[in-house]
Amino acid sequence: MKRNLIAALLGMMAYSAFSAHAAGVTDAMIANDAQAPDNVLSWGMGTQGQRFSPLTQINTRTVGKLVPAWSFSFGGEKQRGQESQPLIYNGKMFVTGSYSRIYAIDLKTGAKLWKYEHRLPDGIMPCCDVVNRGAALYDNLVIFGTLDAQLVALEQDTGKIVWKEKVDDYAAGYSMSAAPLIANGLLLTGVSGGEFGVVGRVEARNPKTGQLVWSRPMIEGHMGYKYDQDGKATENGVTGTLNKSWPGDLWKTGGGATWLGGTYDPATKLAYFGTGNPAPWNSHLRPGDNLYSASTVALDVDTGKIKWSYQTTPHDGWDYDGVNEFVTFDMDGKRMGGKADRNGFFYVIDAKNGKLENAFPFVKKITWASSIDLKTGRPNYIDSGRPGDPTKGEEGKKGATVFAAPAFLGAKNQMPMAYSPQTKLFYVPANEWGMDIWNEPVSYKKGGAFLGAGFTIHPLNEDYIGAMRAIDPKTGKIVWEIKNSAPLWGGVMTTAGGLVFYGTPEGFLKAVDAKTGKELWKFQTGSGVVAPPVTWKDGDTQYVAVTSGWGGAVPLWGGEVAKKVNFLEQGGSVWVFKLASK
Ligand code: CA
Repeated sequence: MKRNLIAALLGMMAYSAFSAHAAGVTDAMIANDAQAPDNVLSWGMGTQGQRFSPLTQINTRTVGKLVPAWSFSFGGEKQRGQESQPLIYNGKMFVTGSYSRIYAIDLKTGAKLWKYEHRLPDGIMPCCDVVNRGAALYDNLVIFGTLDAQLVALEQDTGKIVWKEKVDDYAAGYSMSAAPLIANGLLLTGVSGGEFGVVGRVEARNPKTGQLVWSRPMIEGHMGYKYDQDGKATENGVTGTLNKSWPGDLWKTGGGATWLGGTYDPATKLAYFGTGNPAPWNSHLRPGDNLYSASTVALDVDTGKIKWSYQTTPHDGWDYDGVNEFVTFDMDGKRMGGKADRNGFFYVIDAKNGKLENAFPFVKKITWASSIDLKTGRPNYIDSGRPGDPTKGEEGKKGATVFAAPAFLGAKNQMPMAYSPQTKLFYVPANEWGMDIWNEPVSYKKGGAFLGAGFTIHPLNEDYIGAMRAIDPKTGKIVWEIKNSAPLWGGVMTTAGGLVFYGTPEGFLKAVDAKTGKELWKFQTGSGVVAPPVTWKDGDTQYVAVTSGWGGAVPLWGGEVAKKVNFLEQGGSVWVFKLASK
């Protein structure tokens, strides 16, 4: 009897092990990603995007013994910025590279299992380098977006294409660089291209087939749609109200690109997408708030409707593109979201209803607003901080130049921050810089830059631009900071081992004490780190990985700053670390 029971139990265990493998990545596994350290299934190490790991083997006492386990080169002649976060599942690492490449690597040996290199047409228009920030896993698929605005789903085991969908027209400036998000059984993606007058939107698809379920434009006045099984579209309500916050026809090319993707909180059942700058940059052409640009937009995943939105920079005139990630966390028993915005303010917002709870600067110099009114949620503008109207001077000429801080590359840009429920602090990779900015006349041309602005970025300090900062969301206080000569452009991870990991353009991956900011370990990866690290456990061993490869927007757009960092060399690799056995 007892023997039969044991045999039956063994049979069940064998069956469940088999079925877990055959079933692939499930919604339940994705919902539990942050708590299950054997895998990294989503961008953000959990769809909330906290980038916190419960692992403790690598900790403040042991991290000094961290050594490389293996390194993998992306190869090829093409290098440029590597902003990708690796995913870890079923003995494999899935990591994307520049120029829309993706690799599957054997976790034990570092050997390449397969590579997919997307064939890119001439004439793609990525504004800010040929980067990709990572993939999504679902069932037996790995899915990523490409620079010619397509989605590709590959079989995890073989790299074979299962489905491929064109999202939009690359010749009109659309591209994709963000990692897709899986939320409640749907694949959610945004689009890049805010500098070319695209219209930002969020789309939901069936992750197994690529078929559209709904689409929600982020610029007020555009129609949303839902799709039936046969792909037939029906109207699903206009976003906002036509011409309420946009004059004339400018909403038709209004920007609001959703280029960094989104986060999802199973507790609120809302997906949170940041939206980029309104187009063009010349704000005098578009009086009004220009909803829903430069905002956080909370979407009901089931219906594709906007539940709430909060605009960080109404009537943006500086490319304070509010695309930054919204990371949900618990504060005083309430579900909040933290957002370190390009405009220099850190916002704490009720994740359920969008009510502003707190807002404070996280950089030292802000010239466009003096503060955020916590009652109305609106900025207190400094009017002289806005670049001058070109129509007020000599005809056809540029308007008055102003000095503005932060620079348009932002107090924080694409590099994701981390939140530790242990220390209750956010770890924010910030930059201190400013710019001379002026406006010019401009009109929309398909496939042309749609800015109506010129600019030069300047450092604000002799000795540093980057500053890794630990920030208390309740008090707004900077608890510690570590200055960095080059602008920080890589993401952050924090762990229950009391550590914060982050990379620098100078090439180091660093581990510091999460409480004090004391540097405990660093490793030179051979090129600049502009990507977020991850950690996982395989058997008894904790691993840390990060991609390396200098690039991104700074060398392309950085003005005076670009000159300061032009000694940095390109690269393209992923590094994996573990503790030395002795
Ligand atoms: Ca922008």
